[in-house]
Amino acid sequence: MTHDHVTRLGHIAKSVTTPTCPPIYQTAAFDVPDLDVLHAMIRGEAHGHIYTRDSNPNHQALAEAVAALEHLDAGAVFSSGMGAIACVLLGLAAAGDHVIISRSLYGRTLQLAAYLERRFGIAVTTVDVQDPSQFRAAATPKTRFALIESISNPLLDVADIAAIADALGPVPLVVDNTFTTPELIQPALHGAAVVIHSASKYLNGHGDVMLGVAAASAHLIKKISEAMTIFGINANPFESWLCLRGLRTLPLRMQQICATTVRLAEFLHTHPAVRKTHHPLLPDHPQHTLATQLYPQGTGGIIAFELRGGGQDAVSRFMRYAHTIPFSPTLADTRTTLSHPASTSHRYMTESQRAAAGITDELIRLSVGLEPFELLRDELDAALRAVVS
Ligand SMILES: *Cc1c(COP(=O)(O)O)cnc(C)c1O
Repeated sequence: MTHDHVTRLGHIAKSVTTPTCPPIYQTAAFDVPDLDVLHAMIRGEAHGHIYTRDSNPNHQALAEAVAALEHLDAGAVFSSGMGAIACVLLGLAAAGDHVIISRSLYGRTLQLAAYLERRFGIAVTTVDVQDPSQFRAAATPKTRFALIESISNPLLDVADIAAIADALGPVPLVVDNTFTTPELIQPALHGAAVVIHSASKYLNGHGDVMLGVAAASAHLIKKISEAMTIFGINANPFESWLCLRGLRTLPLRMQQICATTVRLAEFLHTHPAVRKTHHPLLPDHPQHTLATQLYPQGTGGIIAFELRGGGQDAVSRFMRYAHTIPFSPTLADTRTTLSHPASTSHRYMTESQRAAAGITDELIRLSVGLEPFELLRDELDAALRAVVS
């Protein structure tokens, strides 16, 4: 009796129908029929995948979806948001080149820029995102790009993307659109050349994936993807598939999150136990006018607020009373979470640096999820009252 070896069994037969949902291509490599096909693929004359570190249908599906939402031609996915930012830096700048970055970037992004400056000789100039003329003044013939965030963490500085792109002239602007997503703003329509995401946050939106995405022209994505492939900072197929699944409900999630967030910001703004509430759509926010112009649908799910005194002890008490709103060092989950910037994202700063950045010990950051407004209002109210009593 002859039989096939187990390693040759269990492959899926070709079907005249196609799956309604994209399958997961959980495979390291793809079988190539012959050398003619291999060469045609490498020359770009035939479409196909060869090795998942380089490309995979699930990577491609997610990258193309995000690129389309961002009004850009091409995209690539990475093992995390930091992976995307690292590949943009490594793919677009080399030793001896120069980049401009905003002072208020995500903490790890600032660390990455300092690391690449120290170890790889990429010169970095740090500027104030609120002053576009600083971008113009910092640009030199060696400047490869400038990097900003659409809205910063945790005090929610709103970047005037078009004014910065204009000040930079021919220097490409890279925008980290993690906080605002293409549902609320498409930075490319304001002059950005590259848009990046920590897809671990809103694009996936369910708190169960680590992933990054970059979108740009095909020319720039080729350079960025080269770094991804060489360093092996690729995403995996299953997480790419999960993220595409999450992405399909991005419009609904962002609509609800924005609506709840504005109402909570207004509630916190007038609460007697709160000294200050930071939200771009509150009238006392420094970029309120710009925010209402750029973000007619809302600015996302982040609010920061300061307790009225009591230092970190008061914050700890607040966390214990608000135990249904977990203290979790992430954002953009389906559930509402809170964080304490002074002891997490801004911990590495000295006390005086934190003071200069406006990060007080009593500052709490809220990432609003999908719970009803009334539930969150009542839980926050009870915890705030308990802290001051
Ligand atoms: C979380 C985050 C990152 C880093 O993304 P990871 O997926 O955690 O690596 C980058 N930028 C912003 C604005 C973020 O919030």
